Amino acid sequence: MRMSFIRFSVIAVLAVAASTRVAGAATLKVVTTTEDLASLTREVGGDKVEVLGLAKGKQDPHNVEPLPSYILAVSRANLLIVVGRELEIGWLPPLLTQSRNATIQAGAAGYLDASLTVKILEIPQGQLTRAMGDVHPFGNPHYWLDPANGRRIAQAIQAKLTQLDPANKAYFAQRYADFDGRLAAAEKRWDAMMAPYKGTKVVTYHRSWPNFMERFGLNVMGYVEPKPGIPPSPTHTLELIADMKRDNVKLIVMESYFDAKTPQKIATEVGGKVVVLAPSVGGAPAATDYIQLFEYNVTTLAAALKASTGK
Ligand SMILES: [Zn+2]
Repeated sequence: MRMSFIRFSVIAVLAVAASTRVAGAATLKVVTTTEDLASLTREVGGDKVEVLGLAKGKQDPHNVEPLPSYILAVSRANLLIVVGRELEIGWLPPLLTQSRNATIQAGAAGYLDASLTVKILEIPQGQLTRAMGDVHPFGNPHYWLDPANGRRIAQAIQAKLTQLDPANKAYFAQRYADFDGRLAAAEKRWDAMMAPYKGTKVVTYHRSWPNFMERFGLNVMGYVEPKPGIPPSPTHTLELIADMKRDNVKLIVMESYFDAKTPQKIATEVGGKVVVLAPSVGGAPAATDYIQLFEYNVTTLAAALKASTGK
């Protein structure tokens, strides 16, 4: 049922796409795999781009149910921006194939892998670990959660938009400079808010936060998941509780899209708390764009740290 609907959509979509190209759109149609990349593209592209982010902020970006409308969007796109490092391996490849859009396939001019110019943490040494269920075989793909990487992504987007639309080179450069300035001012504020908690140990559910925690000086000492993408197991949970008690760790950071049952149980055992942060733009109502995502996460985390440490 669903497959045949998708196939029907592709035919309808290709007709629309063909007519659009003939008409010649003034704006670049950009599809990004996440809302974070969409927000950064809007920052740089302004009114010269039309942007759609596929995975929503309340969804686990590793596991997205592609909607038929995504094929329409990808088939019409002039530019596709991906997180890469195989974050989207479970759902993007069929969309790319079904879009039949040569412009945005990997390696084409309309394809941008945002992971190529950023700082990547947790790159596995030696053998790849995907066979053991690890969904981060090429390093940690949640790298957008460091504002320095957000700045690098915005730079890459500026270069790509300029390449595709050279007439608006100055416009994109001015938009990037404006974003860079606002981000730098906000970073000073966030650093001040997090400064009292430098070195505090926390636990996170998934390995979504290494870039974020490193940037703001916190120390992740354990994970609710035994491995990225592997659900909590009783043995691992007991070990984690023992480790947290030994190190007096009180805070568990979790993503909005996981089941809170195990983290809550662990928090009760250690006399601590669970704090839910937004891993992506749209992951909380206040996280309306890239800068607001950090505003929300830093404010929420600092309040939880203040309560648990008394600092
Ligand atoms: Zn992950």
